Amino acid sequence: MEKYRTETQAIRTQIPRSPFQEHSAPLYLTSSFVFEDAEDMRASFAEEKERTLYSRYSNPNTDELIRKVCLMEGAEQGFAFASGMAAVFSTFAALLDSGDHIVASRSVFGSTHTLFTQILPRWNISHSYFRFDDLESIESLIRPNTRILYAESPTNPGVDVLDLEALGKIAKKHGLLLVIDNCFATPYLQQPIRFGADVVIHSGTKLMDGQGRVLAGLAVGPEALIDRIYRFARITGPALSPFNAWVLSKSLETLPVRVDRHCENALEVARFLESHPAVNWVKYPFLPSHPQYALAKKQMKAGGCVVAFEVRGGVDGGRAFFDRIGLLSLSANLGDTRTIVTHPASTTHSKLSVEERLESGITDGMVRISVGLEHPEDIKADLDQALRAIP
Ligand SMILES: *Cc1c(COP(=O)(O)O)cnc(C)c1O
Repeated sequence: MEKYRTETQAIRTQIPRSPFQEHSAPLYLTSSFVFEDAEDMRASFAEEKERTLYSRYSNPNTDELIRKVCLMEGAEQGFAFASGMAAVFSTFAALLDSGDHIVASRSVFGSTHTLFTQILPRWNISHSYFRFDDLESIESLIRPNTRILYAESPTNPGVDVLDLEALGKIAKKHGLLLVIDNCFATPYLQQPIRFGADVVIHSGTKLMDGQGRVLAGLAVGPEALIDRIYRFARITGPALSPFNAWVLSKSLETLPVRVDRHCENALEVARFLESHPAVNWVKYPFLPSHPQYALAKKQMKAGGCVVAFEVRGGVDGGRAFFDRIGLLSLSANLGDTRTIVTHPASTTHSKLSVEERLESGITDGMVRISVGLEHPEDIKADLDQALRAIP
């Protein structure tokens, strides 16, 4: 499958057919697998043979999903988790020891921030943050016990773009592992391993499923690192359910066509918002006005589905706007076929102080819109009537 292009890999990566010769991969909804005899069982548990024995370790459906994402990301091996956060936590838990230190971008997903500030410190794992627009400060934050350099790009919810190649060089120079959360871009738009990332993490819940159905997470990277993650995960049990893996593997078959349309619609919505009098500013990686437009063009195939903008009138303006939204959904997810609008300051990032939010580029009137696959004219019409409600 290596010789094929992403679109083909997304469709044609499939576990071997069963004796029924099904065309589309069946669902192996089973917790365990049977052995031929005592010797088969002994050898399987001794890991002398590669085979599926228990779905906490592996399952044909999760195997197919992992194989597919590895091919699309250009990675050797991977593990599939019950959620994106299980992938994030397990990666840190497997690769770090008590006393280790992480240098991370300040602009990370809200739960990842809580992991850094409240959970990992309980095992004496500390972190230092750098600003997404100040990669020069990273070297001054690195300590003798720093092991991981961590970032997301584009960021949530500010859609800022970080220079992956520059991060890769810093990580290499200092012997750090570069771990990138590639959720916003998907392997179709950006492959961080090409720029020097060691481990790539995904929330499969977002664009990968794309239809708001299942939670899932993945970590992919070199065999040796993923083996450490696998050994941690097979004991602690964050494995993805075979059902969700089956759904997600089918979702990936249409990822390239869906993401192309998401990006087209998002660019159109971003341009519309940029010209709207009730909007102060708009940020979208593929809008020429984006501060890292050239960088986005260099490392991404298209801009993704998320647009950030600020409505006039701060919190009051935001509330008036949200109360008038009709067709679009007020929801916490993103990357869905349905367009979703969220207010980060009062929802996903409400646990942060105002100062912490501003450091991540989140203002009170900021809106995050995940542009879906409805007709762009209908999306724009709903936004327009809601924006007109702002006093
Ligand atoms: C949603 C999200 C996660 C967490 O994924 P879940 O599947 O919800 O656990 C991690 N990182 C980013 C960037 C996300 O958007």
